[in-house]
Parts: sequence; C-alpha cells; structure tokens
Amino acid sequence: MEKGTLIIGGGVIGLSIGWRLRARGEPVTLLERGETGREASWAAAGMLAPVSEVHFQEDVNLRLGQESLRLYPEFVAELEAFTGKEVGYRREGGISVSLHADDTAELRHRFEYQQALDLPVEWLSATEVQNLAPALSHNVVAAVYSPADHQVDNRKLVTVLRCAFVQAGGILHEQTPVEEVRLLEDGPPAVRAGGREWRSEKLLLAAGSWSGMIPGLDGALRPWVRPVKGQILAVRAAPDLIRHNIRTPDVYIAPRADGRLVVGATVEEMGYNADLTVGGVFELLRGAWRAIPGVYEMPIHEIWCGFRPGSRDNAPILGETEIPGFFIATGHYRNGILNTPVTAKYMSELILAGTMPEILAPFSPARFSG
Ligand SMILES: Cc1cc2nc3c(=O)[nH]c(=O)nc-3n(C[C@H](O)[C@H](O)[C@H](O)COP(=O)(O)OP(=O)(O)OC[C@H]3O[C@@H](n4cnc5c(N)ncnc54)[C@H](O)[C@@H]3O)c2cc1C
Repeated sequence: MEKGTLIIGGGVIGLSIGWRLRARGEPVTLLERGETGREASWAAAGMLAPVSEVHFQEDVNLRLGQESLRLYPEFVAELEAFTGKEVGYRREGGISVSLHADDTAELRHRFEYQQALDLPVEWLSATEVQNLAPALSHNVVAAVYSPADHQVDNRKLVTVLRCAFVQAGGILHEQTPVEEVRLLEDGPPAVRAGGREWRSEKLLLAAGSWSGMIPGLDGALRPWVRPVKGQILAVRAAPDLIRHNIRTPDVYIAPRADGRLVVGATVEEMGYNADLTVGGVFELLRGAWRAIPGVYEMPIHEIWCGFRPGSRDNAPILGETEIPGFFIATGHYRNGILNTPVTAKYMSELILAGTMPEILAPFSPARFSG
C-alpha cells in the first residue's frame, strides 16, 4: 500500500484538493481519464456569484458559496505567487437586469430576500444602470447591483492548478481512466487503471459527473450524480465594453479581459448527449442580444457544452464515506468554480486530520444513506 492519497479525476476539484494536500506534505497521486481540466471545469463561465444566484431556502449552499468567495483572494494570490501565472480574477461585481414589468416584480422579490439575508445588494433605476454599464439595452427597466459577485477565467484557473499540483510534487497520470474500484477488507478500495492496481492509505473520488459510473461502487458508496448539460458560447467584443457579470431572466454574460463575452447557459437533462442545438444556441444569442443589442454585430468566437455534476438535491457531496479513508468531493453542479477554494481547504483538512469541518457537515455523503 502506498503512503498518502490517491485522487480520481483532474478537474478543479481534484487538482485543487491535491495541491492543498501537497502543500501540507501529503504524498498525492492523481489519475485522470483524459487531459486534466477539459470537462466541466473548462466549459464553465467562471462566475463567482453566490449573491446574485441565491435561491430561496438554500441557505447552507449560500453559506458555502460566501465562505468560498471570502477565501478566493487569498487562494488566487497564493496560486499566482506559487506558479507565476495569473488566473483572470476580477471583482467588478454583477448586475441582474429586468427587461419588462414581470421581470421587475421577480427581481424585486429576490432583492427583498437578499436584503433579508443581509447580502450586499443595491437597487438601480434605469438611468443608474445605463451609467454603470452603457452597453446595456435602453429597454432595461431596473437592476440589482451585487458588488460582491466576482469572476475568474476558469480555463486559466484549472490550467494553473495543474501547474501548481505538479510543481508542488503531485504525481499526475493523464490518459489513465479508472476502470474499476475493488472493495477491500481493510482500508479504502483499490483502484484498477492503466493496466495495474493502485492502493493508497486514502482514496478521493472527484470525477465530476462521472463519479457514480465507476464499476465496483454500489449501494451507499456510489455517489448519485447526474450530468446536467449546459450549452454556452462566446462572442468577441471590444475589451471593457462590459466589465460586470450581467444576468437576465434568460441568460448570463461573463466578460473576459480580452473582450470575449461568455454567454450561458442552457440547463438540460440529456445524459451525455453533447450536441449543440439550434434551439439552445438561438435562445442564448437572443437572450444576449436583448440585454446588449451590440451583440448583433459581434463575431461568434466559440460554441461548446459541458456537463455539470448534479446530485439528488443539487448540493455538493463532500466528506468521508462509511469506509474510513475513502472520501468523495463531487456534485458541485452550477457552482464548482465558485466552491473550489472552500472545497480544497476543508476537504484537505478532513483528509489530513480525519475530523469533519463544521461547514462541510450539511454536505456529507451520509445524507443520502437509506
Ligand atoms: C456550461 C457550464 C457553465 C458553468 N458555469 C459555472 C460558473 O459560472 N460558475 C461556477 O462556479 N461553476 C460553473 N459551472 C459548474 C462547474 O464547471 C463545475 O461544478 C465544476 O467544474 C466541477 O468540477 P469537477 O472537478 O468536479 O468536474 P470536472 O471538471 O468535470 O472534472 C472531472 C474530471 O474527472 C475525470 N474523470 C471522469 N471519470 C474518470 C475516471 N473513470 N478515471 C479518471 N478520471 C475520470 C474527467 O475526465 C474530468 O477531467 C458550469 C458548468 C457548465 C457545464
């Protein structure tokens, strides 16, 4: 049996936990089916928006997201200083807009809920929105400004996390799909991959929406995660035409430093069907054009899709299973980029110290047993 932790899956979650474990001296080996960071972590828009995305009665998710947002600046500073590479972290805030009266009622309803939770939000009139973001449509009726909502270039983030993991001494095996997991009498399961069997003191499953598909994990050990497809696209605008995350009832628009506007995303229960559909792309383009009319003239840069890992209650699954030494970190659904620092910090603490941090308690895999 090898010392240390074996990780299955090299998205933002597996890589960031691996990096934090290495920083504390833990030997770590990571097995990745393809190339690291090319699945959901590549497909995302990179919005870090727990305030704008707050859903009624999802207070524990909000708390996790807020803690992660609090950790973000330090996480990014440490990552950038360690690797010498930047990840495109921006703090301009987010603007949720309404484009007609029905939208305004819904926006007001959410605004009151945000205020009741003491979240930093500000109601803006049409004129105030125009002053803040002049490229927005003159049809914008009102808006809510959330200064605390930030963004990151998730493709840079996952690429830099890979560098950090390897630079810190993590052992990475790409093109090494885990084909089976074998339960043992003592210790965490053994893993078959790359024509051999791997056994470590600790095993972490972080295979995104594929986490429940590895043969050998049955019953309570198998995390129930489904793929939730998102079609998403980018258009090319002048840099700084838009500086904030823009959210409408139909789409969101996340600006990148080079001027690209990422427009997302559909939410589809289609299994792993990766088709880009006329309807999906049409709705995204129409939604973007309604919010920013100038989109009509912009070149399309790229269209792609990805699979969000969604659990039964759409909240992450974080913690130790009923087998000591066997851990799970998946099910991050729409917020895996946001929740990377909080997952990395507290999961690495759990793996090293063996005690469940209080903030992770609501997300334990045990909540689905029985
Ligand atoms: C369209 C879209 C937009 C999104 N926008 C945002 C956003 O704005 N903000 C936000 O916070 N989140 C967003 N998300 C969600 C976020 O992308 C995910 O929650 C997050 O990337 C999940 O990370 P992960 O590491 O768990 O999964 P992944 O990135 O999917 O990584 C899992 C890895 O495991 C590997 N793997 C799978 N099976 C095996 C196996 N058998 N053996 C070895 N390796 C295996 C895969 O190849 C993959 O590299 C978005 C997602 C999508 C699809």
